[in-house]
Amino acid sequence: MSIYTPTIGLEIHAELKTKTKMFCNSKNDPDEKSPNVNICPVCMGHPGTLPTINKEAVRHVLKVGTALGGELATNTYFDRKNYFYPDLPKGYQVSQYKNPLVSGGTLKDVLVTRIHLEEDTARSSHETGNTSLVDFNRAGIPLMELVTEPVIKSGKQASDFARELRLLLRSLEAGEANMEKGEMRVEANVSISDSDSLGTKVEIKNLNSLKAVEQAVAFEIGRQEDVLKRGEQVLQETRGWDENKQITFPQRIKEESQDYRYFPEPDLPRLDISDIPEFSLERLKSEISELPWEKRSRYADVYGIKDEDIEALVQDKKLGTLFEEATEKFADDKNMIQTAANYITSDLVGILKRGKKASQEISMTSESFCELMLMIKEGTVSSRGAKDVLSVLAIEGGDAKSVGEGLGLIQKSNEDELKLVVSNIISSHKDVVEDYKAGKESALQYLVGQAMKETKGSANPQILQKLFKELL
Ligand SMILES: [Zn+2]
Repeated sequence: MSIYTPTIGLEIHAELKTKTKMFCNSKNDPDEKSPNVNICPVCMGHPGTLPTINKEAVRHVLKVGTALGGELATNTYFDRKNYFYPDLPKGYQVSQYKNPLVSGGTLKDVLVTRIHLEEDTARSSHETGNTSLVDFNRAGIPLMELVTEPVIKSGKQASDFARELRLLLRSLEAGEANMEKGEMRVEANVSISDSDSLGTKVEIKNLNSLKAVEQAVAFEIGRQEDVLKRGEQVLQETRGWDENKQITFPQRIKEESQDYRYFPEPDLPRLDISDIPEFSLERLKSEISELPWEKRSRYADVYGIKDEDIEALVQDKKLGTLFEEATEKFADDKNMIQTAANYITSDLVGILKRGKKASQEISMTSESFCELMLMIKEGTVSSRGAKDVLSVLAIEGGDAKSVGEGLGLIQKSNEDELKLVVSNIISSHKDVVEDYKAGKESALQYLVGQAMKETKGSANPQILQKLFKELL
């Protein structure tokens, strides 16, 4: 055990999904590939232009705050954060300093300090030959910033928190939070201490995957331990994460905190949240559908699904939808719901992995999936055959019955037809029949096997067994 206790706080920025930008009517399109098309005089900071507040963005943040049990501001205003950088056309960023939209709240037992709303900056890219390019499509996109209390203790806990926030944003349809696309960006403040007071804080920036969050924080804790064990001091600085070398590296030393000269944005009115009906707590609550943690409890308590299977269903939208539709279709049949969960989380996930496909590429409809589950129940297809049908359905689509027929996997369950086969086997295997009548149970299995052979494996073995018992 280390004598040092790590303390981690997170600052997470997430772009919000809205039609237009935070303060103007330019399109908010994170997928736009051509640079500088979604811009206008407002987000380009032309003199004399006036911003207006995007209510959709405010509502997203208030919903996140409501889901986390935070306190919503009764009124708020925006501040100007002044600094110079080429990605900031106005020379200031409109943000919230003293009056965040949300104060407090909890996610995965981690206390949230605040959630506020601001605008994103432009995207700059540094080309070869001393050239830098700036794309202003991103400038002014609504950006939510969530700050946690310094209560996280490990890299794993930090990445678990970020994963849960991503899931919440997606479930509220507030944002896609794809980290590889920069839609969610995590900064971690890491310090270690062997006493009750906190140690020197190091800020790790530009963590662009959940894995990077976990690994960078874990590395940084170890690095700081080594520094202190050598009798040296941890420097207060900003560090980056080198994915290839798996190390953090110094970016800049913080000598003093930068003075942003915050002051209230004079071009925007105060936002009286409590006077706006669509921002009322009741209204917000009514618009929030089942939250991820509520879904987890329902799957466990009502259907008895295993934890790791629940996670696969909750984290993946397509798999979750297939399962949800199965729960509706088979409402009271818990066995069927369990079967559906197994086929999704084990067989279907395996098929996707082998085919190197994402779940969004699944061609199978929920109806077709439920049809296949029913075919298993009714014995029209064996559980072995069902896996083959599922492979085809998942990639090519179609309806389960036709695919099963096409693959020759439909089992004969017609008793009259099978009775004929069974009586033929009985009359041609007199000695085995005698063995069975003398109490040899395995003789029955042999007879069923003979009948399966006779029907080239197309008969339902359960039906055959039943018929043999009846006829003997
Ligand atoms: Zn604009």
